[in-house]
Amino acid sequence: MAIHEGMDKFGVETMEEAEYRKRQDYVVKSCKCAKCPTYVAGDAPVGYCFPLIGTSKKIQWEKECVCETCPIYKEYDLTHTFYCTRCSQVCQTLKTEGPVAQGT
Ligand code: SF4
Ligand code: SF4
Repeated sequence: MAIHEGMDKFGVETMEEAEYRKRQDYVVKSCKCAKCPTYVAGDAPVGYCFPLIGTSKKIQWEKECVCETCPIYKEYDLTHTFYCTRCSQVCQTLKTEGPVAQGT
């Protein structure tokens, strides 16, 4: 399924695999989740906002989310929070603004 233009904040739709991996590494390295009160020590990989990383296997309780203080959040103009429990940026956007929500 094609990702609607504007939803693909990380620009992964048109990327080669090597470039995708590079961007994923960059996001994971810059990620602030390990310093977040919600984070459970040892969970990996972080960078839950990025497509296909998936939600956390360990985090069950949402406390606070520090994503809005993260450089990745600003750089890629992200709009959601609690990616660790609620799913990635594109996944949450599809749930709230996707074809179903738009009635198309
Ligand atoms: S926005 Fe949140 S999940 Fe994404 S890299 Fe930053 S701290 Fe991690
Ligand atoms: S996605 Fe948000 S709530 Fe979850 S660990 Fe990262 S900063 Fe914390």
